Amino acid sequence: MTNTDKKDTVFQSVGETAKTIIAEKPDLQAAISSFGGMLEASQKVQALLGPWNTDTLVDVDTTERLAQGESILNMVSLLDFTNQVASAASIMFPAMQKAFSTIAGDVEKISAVAKADSVDLYPCLQGMVAGDEQLLKTAAEKSDVSYDVFTFVMSQLLSPFVHSQAKSFASAFDLSAWTKGYCPVCGSFPSVSYLVGEGGKRWLHCAECGHEWRFQRQICPYCEDNAAKGLDYFYIEDRLAERAYVCKECKKYLLTIDIRELALKPNMDIAPVGLIALDVKAQEEGYAPLVDLPWNNFTA
Ligand SMILES: [Zn+2]
Ligand SMILES: [Zn+2]
Repeated sequence: MTNTDKKDTVFQSVGETAKTIIAEKPDLQAAISSFGGMLEASQKVQALLGPWNTDTLVDVDTTERLAQGESILNMVSLLDFTNQVASAASIMFPAMQKAFSTIAGDVEKISAVAKADSVDLYPCLQGMVAGDEQLLKTAAEKSDVSYDVFTFVMSQLLSPFVHSQAKSFASAFDLSAWTKGYCPVCGSFPSVSYLVGEGGKRWLHCAECGHEWRFQRQICPYCEDNAAKGLDYFYIEDRLAERAYVCKECKKYLLTIDIRELALKPNMDIAPVGLIALDVKAQEEGYAPLVDLPWNNFTA
Protein backbone atom coordinates (compact mmCIF):
# COMPACT_ATOMS: atom_id res chain seq x y z
CA MET A 1 0.00 0.00 0.00
CA THR A 2 3.02 2.27 0.13
CA ASN A 3 2.64 3.35 -3.47
CA THR A 4 -0.89 4.69 -3.27
CA ASP A 5 -1.21 8.19 -4.62
CA LYS A 6 -2.91 11.13 -2.95
CA LYS A 7 -6.18 10.49 -4.76
CA ASP A 8 -6.42 6.98 -3.25
CA THR A 9 -5.41 8.10 0.20
CA VAL A 10 -8.00 8.10 2.95
CA PHE A 11 -7.23 10.56 5.72
CA GLN A 12 -8.52 10.35 9.27
CA SER A 13 -11.08 12.76 10.69
CA VAL A 14 -9.96 15.56 13.02
CA GLY A 15 -11.30 13.60 16.00
CA GLU A 16 -9.48 10.38 15.06
CA THR A 17 -6.13 12.11 14.58
CA ALA A 18 -6.64 14.11 17.78
CA LYS A 19 -7.10 10.85 19.71
CA THR A 20 -3.96 9.34 18.20
CA ILE A 21 -1.87 12.39 19.01
CA ILE A 22 -3.09 12.58 22.62
CA ALA A 23 -2.37 8.86 23.10
CA GLU A 24 1.19 9.25 21.78
CA LYS A 25 1.94 12.72 23.17
CA PRO A 26 -0.13 13.27 26.32
CA ASP A 27 1.58 16.62 27.01
CA LEU A 28 -0.23 18.04 23.96
CA GLN A 29 -3.68 17.19 25.30
CA ALA A 30 -4.68 20.82 26.04
CA ALA A 31 -3.53 22.20 22.67
CA ILE A 32 -5.05 19.32 20.74
CA SER A 33 -8.45 19.56 22.43
CA SER A 34 -8.57 23.35 21.98
CA PHE A 35 -7.64 23.45 18.32
CA GLY A 36 -9.36 20.14 17.58
CA GLY A 37 -12.57 21.54 19.07
CA MET A 38 -12.31 24.60 16.83
CA LEU A 39 -11.66 22.50 13.73
CA GLU A 40 -14.65 20.30 14.47
CA ALA A 41 -16.86 23.36 14.95
CA SER A 42 -15.56 24.74 11.65
CA GLN A 43 -16.45 21.49 9.90
CA LYS A 44 -19.93 21.63 11.40
CA VAL A 45 -20.37 25.11 9.89
CA GLN A 46 -18.91 24.00 6.55
CA ALA A 47 -21.50 21.23 6.39
CA LEU A 48 -24.19 23.94 6.39
CA LEU A 49 -22.49 26.01 3.68
CA GLY A 50 -22.30 25.75 -0.08
CA PRO A 51 -22.23 24.56 -2.70
CA TRP A 52 -21.21 28.03 -3.84
CA ASN A 53 -22.25 29.29 -7.22
CA THR A 54 -19.04 30.15 -9.04
CA ASP A 55 -20.68 30.67 -12.46
CA THR A 56 -20.08 34.42 -12.44
CA LEU A 57 -16.40 33.91 -11.54
CA VAL A 58 -15.35 31.65 -14.37
CA ASP A 59 -15.62 34.61 -16.76
CA VAL A 60 -12.65 36.15 -14.99
CA ASP A 61 -9.61 35.37 -17.11
CA THR A 62 -7.30 33.87 -14.56
CA THR A 63 -5.05 31.70 -16.71
CA GLU A 64 -2.41 34.30 -17.45
CA ARG A 65 -2.39 35.73 -13.93
CA LEU A 66 -2.22 32.29 -12.32
CA ALA A 67 0.77 31.55 -14.53
CA GLN A 68 2.43 34.65 -13.08
CA GLY A 69 1.84 33.45 -9.54
CA GLU A 70 -1.29 35.37 -8.59
CA SER A 71 -3.69 33.54 -6.28
CA ILE A 72 -7.42 33.30 -6.99
CA LEU A 73 -8.45 35.41 -3.99
CA ASN A 74 -6.24 38.15 -5.35
CA MET A 75 -8.39 38.24 -8.47
CA VAL A 76 -11.87 37.56 -7.17
CA SER A 77 -13.62 38.36 -3.87
CA LEU A 78 -15.13 35.80 -1.56
CA LEU A 79 -18.70 35.04 -2.62
CA ASP A 80 -21.36 36.77 -0.57
CA PHE A 81 -22.10 35.02 2.73
CA THR A 82 -23.90 37.80 4.62
CA ASN A 83 -26.86 35.60 5.48
CA GLN A 84 -24.79 32.79 6.97
CA VAL A 85 -22.70 34.78 9.44
CA ALA A 86 -25.17 34.61 12.34
CA SER A 87 -25.62 30.84 12.13
CA ALA A 88 -21.86 30.33 11.84
CA ALA A 89 -21.30 32.54 14.89
CA SER A 90 -23.85 30.53 16.86
CA ILE A 91 -21.62 27.46 16.39
CA MET A 92 -18.15 29.05 16.38
CA PHE A 93 -18.53 31.39 19.38
CA PRO A 94 -19.48 28.73 21.95
CA ALA A 95 -16.73 26.46 20.56
CA MET A 96 -14.21 29.30 20.97
CA GLN A 97 -15.33 29.93 24.55
CA LYS A 98 -14.81 26.27 25.34
CA ALA A 99 -11.46 26.01 23.53
CA PHE A 100 -9.91 29.24 24.78
CA SER A 101 -11.29 29.94 28.24
CA THR A 102 -9.08 33.02 28.73
CA ILE A 103 -10.98 34.89 26.01
CA ALA A 104 -14.45 33.48 26.79
CA GLY A 105 -15.57 36.82 28.25
CA ASP A 106 -14.32 38.71 25.20
CA VAL A 107 -16.17 36.36 22.85
CA GLU A 108 -19.29 37.01 24.91
CA LYS A 109 -18.86 40.76 24.42
CA ILE A 110 -18.39 40.42 20.66
CA SER A 111 -21.41 38.17 20.48
CA ALA A 112 -23.49 40.70 22.43
CA VAL A 113 -22.60 43.72 20.26
CA ALA A 114 -23.22 41.65 17.14
CA LYS A 115 -26.67 40.64 18.38
CA ALA A 116 -27.44 44.25 19.30
CA ASP A 117 -26.40 45.24 15.76
CA SER A 118 -23.89 47.79 17.01
CA VAL A 119 -21.08 45.84 15.32
CA ASP A 120 -21.87 44.16 12.01
CA LEU A 121 -19.66 41.08 11.75
CA TYR A 122 -19.87 40.67 7.97
CA PRO A 123 -17.86 43.81 7.08
CA CYS A 124 -15.39 42.82 9.81
CA LEU A 125 -14.87 39.45 8.14
CA GLN A 126 -14.39 41.20 4.81
CA GLY A 127 -11.97 43.55 6.57
CA MET A 128 -9.97 40.49 7.64
CA VAL A 129 -9.62 39.39 4.02
CA ALA A 130 -8.78 42.89 2.82
CA GLY A 131 -6.47 43.66 5.76
CA ASP A 132 -8.53 46.73 6.74
CA GLU A 133 -6.87 47.51 10.06
CA GLN A 134 -8.82 50.70 10.73
CA LEU A 135 -12.22 49.07 10.36
CA LEU A 136 -11.16 46.23 12.66
CA LYS A 137 -9.71 48.58 15.26
CA THR A 138 -12.98 50.52 15.40
CA ALA A 139 -15.00 47.34 15.73
CA ALA A 140 -12.69 46.03 18.47
CA GLU A 141 -13.11 49.27 20.41
CA LYS A 142 -16.89 49.18 20.04
CA SER A 143 -16.83 45.60 21.33
CA ASP A 144 -14.56 46.62 24.22
CA VAL A 145 -11.95 43.95 23.46
CA SER A 146 -8.32 44.23 22.36
CA TYR A 147 -7.43 44.35 18.67
CA ASP A 148 -5.51 41.07 18.91
CA VAL A 149 -8.39 39.19 20.50
CA PHE A 150 -10.90 40.70 18.09
CA THR A 151 -8.92 39.72 14.99
CA PHE A 152 -8.25 36.25 16.42
CA VAL A 153 -12.00 35.75 16.94
CA MET A 154 -12.74 37.05 13.44
CA SER A 155 -10.12 34.77 11.89
CA GLN A 156 -11.74 31.77 13.58
CA LEU A 157 -15.20 32.84 12.42
CA LEU A 158 -13.96 33.44 8.88
CA SER A 159 -12.19 30.09 8.64
CA PRO A 160 -15.17 27.85 7.71
CA PHE A 161 -16.21 30.28 4.94
CA VAL A 162 -12.72 30.38 3.46
CA HIS A 163 -12.38 26.58 3.65
CA SER A 164 -15.77 26.01 2.09
CA GLN A 165 -15.33 28.54 -0.73
CA ALA A 166 -11.76 27.37 -1.40
CA LYS A 167 -13.19 23.96 -2.37
CA SER A 168 -15.56 25.59 -4.87
CA PHE A 169 -12.82 27.84 -6.26
CA ALA A 170 -10.43 24.92 -6.61
CA SER A 171 -12.93 23.08 -8.79
CA ALA A 172 -13.99 26.16 -10.77
CA PHE A 173 -10.46 27.09 -11.91
CA ASP A 174 -7.66 25.05 -13.41
CA LEU A 175 -4.88 25.22 -10.84
CA SER A 176 -2.87 22.29 -12.18
CA ALA A 177 -0.01 24.41 -13.58
CA TRP A 178 0.66 26.14 -10.24
CA THR A 179 4.34 26.06 -9.25
CA LYS A 180 4.48 28.39 -6.24
CA GLY A 181 5.04 27.52 -2.59
CA TYR A 182 2.04 29.60 -1.50
CA CYS A 183 -1.56 28.62 -2.01
CA PRO A 184 -3.07 29.08 -5.50
CA VAL A 185 -6.46 29.76 -3.92
CA CYS A 186 -5.76 32.15 -1.04
CA GLY A 187 -2.04 33.01 -1.21
CA SER A 188 -1.17 31.72 2.26
CA PHE A 189 1.84 29.49 2.95
CA PRO A 190 1.35 25.87 4.07
CA SER A 191 1.08 24.85 7.72
CA VAL A 192 2.33 21.35 6.93
CA SER A 193 3.17 19.11 4.01
CA TYR A 194 3.19 15.37 3.48
CA LEU A 195 4.94 12.83 1.31
CA VAL A 196 2.80 10.30 -0.49
CA GLY A 197 2.99 7.88 -3.41
CA GLU A 198 5.94 6.47 -5.29
CA GLY A 199 9.15 8.31 -4.52
CA GLY A 200 7.34 10.43 -1.92
CA LYS A 201 5.64 13.24 -3.80
CA ARG A 202 5.25 16.31 -1.64
CA TRP A 203 1.85 17.93 -1.12
CA LEU A 204 1.53 21.25 0.67
CA HIS A 205 -1.48 21.86 2.93
CA CYS A 206 -2.62 25.49 3.11
CA ALA A 207 -2.75 26.96 6.61
CA GLU A 208 -5.57 29.32 5.72
CA CYS A 209 -8.01 27.48 3.44
CA GLY A 210 -6.95 23.81 3.57
CA HIS A 211 -6.31 23.60 -0.18
CA GLU A 212 -3.54 21.15 -1.15
CA TRP A 213 -1.18 21.26 -4.09
CA ARG A 214 1.87 19.38 -5.40
CA PHE A 215 5.24 21.05 -4.97
CA GLN A 216 8.72 19.89 -5.96
CA ARG A 217 10.46 18.31 -3.02
CA GLN A 218 13.94 19.79 -3.31
CA ILE A 219 12.70 23.37 -3.66
CA CYS A 220 12.12 25.68 -0.71
CA PRO A 221 8.46 26.81 -0.82
CA TYR A 222 9.42 30.20 0.58
CA CYS A 223 12.45 31.47 -1.37
CA GLU A 224 12.31 28.83 -4.15
CA ASP A 225 15.95 27.97 -3.66
CA ASN A 226 16.66 24.69 -5.41
CA ALA A 227 18.60 22.48 -3.04
CA ALA A 228 20.07 20.10 -5.59
CA LYS A 229 20.78 17.43 -2.97
CA GLY A 230 17.39 17.94 -1.35
CA LEU A 231 16.48 20.09 1.63
CA ASP A 232 17.98 19.13 4.98
CA TYR A 233 15.63 17.97 7.68
CA PHE A 234 15.62 16.84 11.24
CA TYR A 235 13.31 14.78 13.41
CA ILE A 236 12.90 13.94 17.06
CA GLU A 237 14.15 10.66 18.50
CA ASP A 238 12.57 7.70 16.76
CA ARG A 239 9.73 9.59 15.06
CA LEU A 240 11.30 9.43 11.61
CA ALA A 241 8.10 10.13 9.69
CA GLU A 242 7.71 13.56 11.30
CA ARG A 243 10.25 16.06 10.00
CA ALA A 244 11.10 19.71 9.81
CA TYR A 245 12.64 20.51 6.42
CA VAL A 246 14.85 23.57 6.63
CA CYS A 247 16.14 26.01 4.05
CA LYS A 248 19.69 27.24 4.61
CA GLU A 249 19.10 30.19 2.28
CA CYS A 250 16.07 31.89 3.88
CA LYS A 251 16.13 30.14 7.28
CA LYS A 252 12.51 28.95 7.06
CA TYR A 253 11.25 25.49 7.96
CA LEU A 254 8.33 23.39 6.82
CA LEU A 255 6.82 20.61 8.92
CA THR A 256 6.40 17.47 6.87
CA ILE A 257 4.93 14.05 7.53
CA ASP A 258 6.01 11.06 5.46
CA ILE A 259 2.67 9.22 5.44
CA ARG A 260 3.79 6.43 3.13
CA GLU A 261 4.52 3.97 5.92
CA LEU A 262 1.76 5.10 8.26
CA ALA A 263 -1.21 2.73 8.49
CA LEU A 264 -3.49 5.59 9.50
CA LYS A 265 -3.07 8.80 7.51
CA PRO A 266 -3.41 11.80 9.84
CA ASN A 267 -5.85 14.64 9.24
CA MET A 268 -3.72 17.51 7.99
CA ASP A 269 -5.72 20.27 9.67
CA ILE A 270 -4.93 18.99 13.18
CA ALA A 271 -1.65 17.15 12.42
CA PRO A 272 0.62 20.23 12.68
CA VAL A 273 -0.59 20.87 16.25
CA GLY A 274 0.87 17.45 17.08
CA LEU A 275 4.30 18.57 15.84
CA ILE A 276 4.89 21.42 18.30
CA ALA A 277 8.09 19.76 19.54
CA LEU A 278 9.51 20.10 16.01
CA ASP A 279 8.47 23.78 15.91
CA VAL A 280 10.34 24.34 19.15
CA LYS A 281 13.45 22.54 17.89
CA ALA A 282 13.45 24.34 14.51
CA GLN A 283 13.03 27.73 16.15
CA GLU A 284 15.79 26.95 18.66
CA GLU A 285 18.03 26.23 15.67
CA GLY A 286 17.25 29.69 14.30
CA TYR A 287 14.62 28.82 11.70
CA ALA A 288 11.23 30.54 11.34
CA PRO A 289 7.92 28.95 10.34
CA LEU A 290 6.52 29.72 6.86
CA VAL A 291 3.40 31.04 8.53
CA ASP A 292 2.63 32.13 12.09
CA LEU A 293 -0.06 29.98 13.62
CA PRO A 294 -1.67 30.30 17.05
CA TRP A 295 0.31 27.30 18.32
CA ASN A 296 3.74 27.81 16.75
CA ASN A 297 4.63 31.30 17.85
CA PHE A 298 6.94 31.13 20.86
CA THR A 299 8.34 34.64 20.67
CA ALA A 300 5.20 36.50 21.80
ZN1 LIG B 1 -5.16 28.61 0.80
ZN1 LIG C 1 14.22 29.18 1.44
